[in-house]
Amino acid sequence: MLQVKNISFGYNKNRVLENITFNLKKSKNLAIIGESGSGKSTLLKLIYGEYDLDQGDIFWKDTQILGPKHNLVIGYDFMKYVSQEFDLMPFITVEENIGKYLSRFYPEEKQKRTTELIKVVELQDFSKTKVKNLSGGQKQRVALARALAKQPEILLLDEPFSHIDNFKKQSLRRSVFSYLKENNIACIVATHDNNDVLGFADEMLVLDQKNIIAKDTPQNLYNNPKLPLIASFFDEFNEIDGKIYYAHQLQIVEKSDTSTSWSVSEAELLSSSLKGVVKNSYFNGESWLIEVEYISKSIFIQHHSEIEKQTKIQFLMNI
Ligand code: ADP
Ligand code: MG
Repeated sequence: MLQVKNISFGYNKNRVLENITFNLKKSKNLAIIGESGSGKSTLLKLIYGEYDLDQGDIFWKDTQILGPKHNLVIGYDFMKYVSQEFDLMPFITVEENIGKYLSRFYPEEKQKRTTELIKVVELQDFSKTKVKNLSGGQKQRVALARALAKQPEILLLDEPFSHIDNFKKQSLRRSVFSYLKENNIACIVATHDNNDVLGFADEMLVLDQKNIIAKDTPQNLYNNPKLPLIASFFDEFNEIDGKIYYAHQLQIVEKSDTSTSWSVSEAELLSSSLKGVVKNSYFNGESWLIEVEYISKSIFIQHHSEIEKQTKIQFLMNI
């Protein structure tokens, strides 16, 4: 188990993280989210032992993670870290990079393991390609595979899919996160992409203003986002009378097609509805996002079709 106990850290006198405490159990997936500059990468580096803490302790099981002041070589065998810059060797091939730290004394084992990892990151067509000839996204996948090569007990991933194009992203996420679960590897993923979290993270920790402002399952935080920052991570949202509503929780009231006047139940709905004017419609794939001016600010409502600009509409909070 990872224990982060009351740690504080700053690169200079200005603190980046203050009194951070949390635990992570074996083989669990924890997402760290927060705005750019909130300290996600710093937290991962501290857990890896890259810097000395100003205060507090970090343990993996019984081993205390020590910074460079107390540890000649940074890092531990049971932990791997894939940073935002991925430090690969450019002049050797993908499979050589991945196999770099695997024992040469068992060439068959080494080949088998390398092939397995290349499959996990879906780079079968590039195993003999020199890393310098790869795209950013392909390099990121090599870095992931190399971190997995020696079966760490815990893996720290900093924005692991940020360079990977949308065509590949979702299948790669499934492949990597399933591999980690199957092999009981705990992981901490720093990200600002909700797709890295939903469907994969067991828990989610939100960093803001040097602190943890929320820690819960993605489901609980999604369903009850107490703060705009949390809602904004998941989806388009609105604040109305101090309450948070996702765009799909607001509903534009429509007349049923067949009748010219409002039915009784529709009229009842209308009496509790709010009024606004359509400013714009944005195509979103399965639906449209309608921008509506409501008390001189914009709110966003999910709707099945486009609505002409300047149309007066009424909408409900549909919870
Ligand atoms: P995130 O990963 O959430 O974007 P970082 O951990 O990279 O945030 O950065 C947190 C804060 O620490 C930022 O204000 C950033 O400018 C600062 N910072 C990051 N790395 C360094 C560094 N090596 N030296 C000084 N300040 C740094
Ligand atoms: Mg970062």
